[in-house]
Amino acid sequence: MNETIHTDEKTDIARIRIDRWTNAVFEDREVQADILRLDLIHPVISGNKWFKLKYSLSDALAQQKKGLISFGGAWSNHLVAMACACRQYGLKSTGIIRGEEPAVFNPTLRQMKAYGMDLVFVSRAGYRDKEAILKTALDRYPQYYYVPEGGQGDKGIAGAAEILSLAPLEQYTHITCAVGTGTTFAGIINAAGKQQCIGVCCLKIPLSEQASENAPGNELNRYIQSHAGSRRYHLYFDYHFGGYARHTPALLAFMNEVYLTNGIPTDIVYTGKLLYAIINLAQKDHFQKGDRILVIHSGGLLGNRSLSEGALCF
Ligand SMILES: *Cc1c(COP(=O)(O)O)cnc(C)c1O
Repeated sequence: MNETIHTDEKTDIARIRIDRWTNAVFEDREVQADILRLDLIHPVISGNKWFKLKYSLSDALAQQKKGLISFGGAWSNHLVAMACACRQYGLKSTGIIRGEEPAVFNPTLRQMKAYGMDLVFVSRAGYRDKEAILKTALDRYPQYYYVPEGGQGDKGIAGAAEILSLAPLEQYTHITCAVGTGTTFAGIINAAGKQQCIGVCCLKIPLSEQASENAPGNELNRYIQSHAGSRRYHLYFDYHFGGYARHTPALLAFMNEVYLTNGIPTDIVYTGKLLYAIINLAQKDHFQKGDRILVIHSGGLLGNRSLSEGALCF
């Protein structure tokens, strides 16, 4: 996949638009699906990550911090978005990366570096003790504002809630989004009106912890419930395709088909699985005639660069 390193392209929420997603499965059932294209904010920045960072950035600026510091893996969409946002706002950034420093950087790490992020690699064993690492890092980077891994927490949720202000909500009966930490989904649930909120979990949660729908059988449900009050939602656990960032030929074929028929690129970690899940739920008649679904395209396209050349047609 050809690689462009972006350094000064600004994020712009004015680029966000809503596209109709056509598919015979929807037409047969007289259901409509629209996609809110947060991926268009920036060529490499995940749309939802941008929203989740908003309030940490404004806090850091108000408190006259030097920069932001956070944790993540070598393919972290969160860290790359943070590196970009900091550069745009004249802040420094430090990313604490899980795992030893690789001899060759992957495209996500290269992009973080291009944005001027300081990268600190920590062994997987050491990484588990985040408090200790953070303490050491803050000694080295005093005056930095700490953002939890993945942009989790109240600030992330408050920023994510603003995503829905970009769509004519009253037109929709359902809102769907991909779920990692659950931060974006919690924000969506808080901002939704009467719509049914559907989250598609992209991590593999053991069956024993899935409990029944909405039962607080796992950390993810507990996190969402403690931040989204008693509001109802549906979380699906069967669309992980083998686990976080795992994929199958069927998923790639589906993503290619969506691109060829609708011109919409998706990513292997989150949005490809989300769209697949929605078609599957429609096939199972989860939606009724007249329903209108708003699908949040949360971005993440940089993750596709982990695939071999030609695996995707876009
Ligand atoms: C991080 C990410 C998610 C998951 O967001 P959470 O708020 O952690 O649940 C979904 N989609 C994309 C493209 C992401 O990069």
